[in-house]
Amino acid sequence: MDNHENPVYGGIALKKVLVVTGGSRGIGATTARLAAAGGYAVCINYRHNEAAAQAVVEEIAQAGGKAIAIAGDVGNEDDVMRLFAEVDEKLGPVTALVNNAGILERQMRVEEMDAARLSRVLTTNVIGSFLCAREAVRRMSTRHGGEGGAIVNVSSIASRLGAPDEYVDYAAAKGAIDSFTIGLAKEIAGEGIRVNAVRPGVIYTEIHASGGEPGRVERVKAGVPMQRGGQPEEVARAILWLLSDEASYATGTLLDVTGGR
Ligand code: NDP
Repeated sequence: MDNHENPVYGGIALKKVLVVTGGSRGIGATTARLAAAGGYAVCINYRHNEAAAQAVVEEIAQAGGKAIAIAGDVGNEDDVMRLFAEVDEKLGPVTALVNNAGILERQMRVEEMDAARLSRVLTTNVIGSFLCAREAVRRMSTRHGGEGGAIVNVSSIASRLGAPDEYVDYAAAKGAIDSFTIGLAKEIAGEGIRVNAVRPGVIYTEIHASGGEPGRVERVKAGVPMQRGGQPEEVARAILWLLSDEASYATGTLLDVTGGR
């Protein structure tokens, strides 16, 4: 490298410790598997689905990687603080965070949405990302004696395109994640931490069934220029690139992974 200025991790052999929130299935589980294969020690956070989280841990162990699973609701401050303290103890200080945990509630028009629903959607998607990023920054920032690191927030293309099929609360939550990504990236750019987001289009995971519309991918993909839904691996690879030193000059970036939408 023509090294006029050291890149963020220049000369420092970081021990790679990754926390993936919502890592028990879908995009999070795939990210955890690929990261472990790439040498990260991985903490798989989940909310309810312990059996699925343990299955990912075992799969990683069988492939020769290192992973642990820790339960916790990302929207609950005590749970998040306990999660990161346990990671310190079991894996060492975190150097990478993927804020992936997210929920999509069932399709509903705006007139029908109540405050309790808005609170659930914003708490998991937005407050969860904020609280986990805060704990990561407390450990990674050079301002606090850390060695730097990287954060990737999992947003959605709904933040840019809206949610014409009646998930406006979800679109609003993801819009907040985009703004949070840009703002936080600038705030801590001089402290060795890069912050970026991926904005997936429609990806084959269980989240669509939780939205009450199991065939949603098939319906939405008609409007995708590449004429197909995406696979979790196609998002996970973008996340891992943003975490890696290959992306050493990228911060505050919102990377669309949408098949051209
Ligand atoms: P899934 O529904 O397949 O998985 C969601 C994961 O998040 C599960 O591991 C779940 O844990 C966990 N989770 C949910 N709520 C919480 C919480 N409060 N605390 C901790 N963990 C929680 O989702 P996807 O893989 O599809 O989605 C992952 C991310 O990607 C989300 O942020 C989603 O909004 C985003 N996204 C997805 C798209 C898609 O088409 N699939 C498109 C654009 C964005 P448990 O198993 O224990 O319930």
